[in-house]
Amino acid sequence: MLITSTLLALALAASPADLMPIECPACAGWNLPQAPFLLHGKSWYVGTQGLSAVLIDSGDGLVLVDGALPQSAPLIAANIASLGFSVTDVKWILNSHPHYDHAGGIAALKRLSGARVAGTARGAEAMRQGNAPHDDPQVGYGPQANAFPPVDEVTGLADGAQLTVGDLTLTLHATPGHTPGGATWSWRSCDQGRCRDLVYADSVTAVSAPGFRFSDDPGRVAEFRATLDRIAGLDCDLAVSAHPGPTKLFERAAARDAGEEEPAFFDDQSCRAYAAFGRDWLDKRLAEESAKSE
Ligand SMILES: [Zn+2]
Repeated sequence: MLITSTLLALALAASPADLMPIECPACAGWNLPQAPFLLHGKSWYVGTQGLSAVLIDSGDGLVLVDGALPQSAPLIAANIASLGFSVTDVKWILNSHPHYDHAGGIAALKRLSGARVAGTARGAEAMRQGNAPHDDPQVGYGPQANAFPPVDEVTGLADGAQLTVGDLTLTLHATPGHTPGGATWSWRSCDQGRCRDLVYADSVTAVSAPGFRFSDDPGRVAEFRATLDRIAGLDCDLAVSAHPGPTKLFERAAARDAGEEEPAFFDDQSCRAYAAFGRDWLDKRLAEESAKSE
């Protein structure tokens, strides 16, 4: 443990380009440290206060979902170490979507761990470039604003692909909408004979750079709605959203720690509720666009 921490400190002290902080109005708040906590079985939350990351122990190596910002990477690595694991045991880093606040820390975490990285095919392409996809609703903020440390050698997986590591099988559900490269990941966690379906849910907010209109492309809107239906329909006892706020993850954990019964923490409606949040946002956004065009 001490050796792990020392190696970690040395690796971080080198401070290469992939740890250069990204500045954005919300970044400092998002990146406030958060102590890791158990989700279920061998799955833990290891992210920051505003940016999720989940660690799963497969029994034959670790899997990490998302890397948050570059400046989150040391916090995530420290959270992994504080759980008693070695960062070098992370075998895979999976991404929800290729925006700087979820993929920005992946290059550094890959370097520290030697892990392989995977996302959707579109997500993988964007991570290799270190930028949002060219047809992303937020692309109008410009390449500078959207840039994050590029990740070399990223595996692009097809919709429905399954990744098995040790006892763990994760399923990728392509969830385009917030960005064309988005993915939601699901896995079954079993502990002492009790199994839970856990879901790492991609962002579902219809946000864009100024001038972009979702309603200009009915195909895109239909695709977004299909994503929301898909998330709503997943086997899901707990949704962890890419930003923890919309699925009320910390409130749920606090209620569980206070001894409240289900559905305080596990809630088989949590994916459905999260999809409804995305649907409300999209409907509001389309109504605004239609009002502006009148
Ligand atoms: Zn995003």
